[in-house]
Amino acid sequence: MKLTVIGKYGPYGKTGNGAASSYLVENCGEYIVLDMGPGTLSRLQATVDIRKIKYIYLSHLHYDHTSDFLAFRYLLEDLEHSVTLLTHKEDSEWYNLLTDHPLINVQNIDENECFKTETMTLRFYPMKHTVPCYAIRLEGEKTLVYTGDTSYNDNIPVAINGADCILADCSKPVGFKGPHMTADIAISLYNEYKIPIIATHLSPDYDPTENFASCDGITVASESKTYEI
Ligand SMILES: [Zn+2]
Repeated sequence: MKLTVIGKYGPYGKTGNGAASSYLVENCGEYIVLDMGPGTLSRLQATVDIRKIKYIYLSHLHYDHTSDFLAFRYLLEDLEHSVTLLTHKEDSEWYNLLTDHPLINVQNIDENECFKTETMTLRFYPMKHTVPCYAIRLEGEKTLVYTGDTSYNDNIPVAINGADCILADCSKPVGFKGPHMTADIAISLYNEYKIPIIATHLSPDYDPTENFASCDGITVASESKTYEI
């Protein structure tokens, strides 16, 4: 299983070069994109043949995780390619705008259902954010958990149990008060569960690398880099 970081910032990209949230996962030749924030579509096109992408997962509907999905639909039209969009059901104009398209097959997810692709089992866990958000657990050759956006909550240990890697929203400075995890929480998570963590969702003006200098199980996500899980 391979994870490529397409964009790692939020709630917008870094000045000049740096895109918001998007990650590409490949398992046995099958591709799924996790979130599609601003600035990520052109990078995604440079990374993979779009026709190989069967699944898109949107963890939650904040714009920094979803906005390039709108332009992506034009590309789907040009390629005459359809995708399955996995996301939770929401009664909102933004949800309707994102999902209402003939080339998008919507598959609503929640904590009660797992979804099987040809090579993976996907499970979903409610997180704690300002809007509904789900972590996704991808079980294939390896097991990867992506938290989406969240502060620490009791579903995190459940979601990560036995996983090989966690792609986590845990890059905020110690003392930060808000709906994201801080670097010290990431270190506690690693010390307790010993599962390697890729820290992501960086603020454009803050790099947590120093925070993790003493913890060799935590890596700060690097854009365009592919990680072997
Ligand atoms: Zn968010």
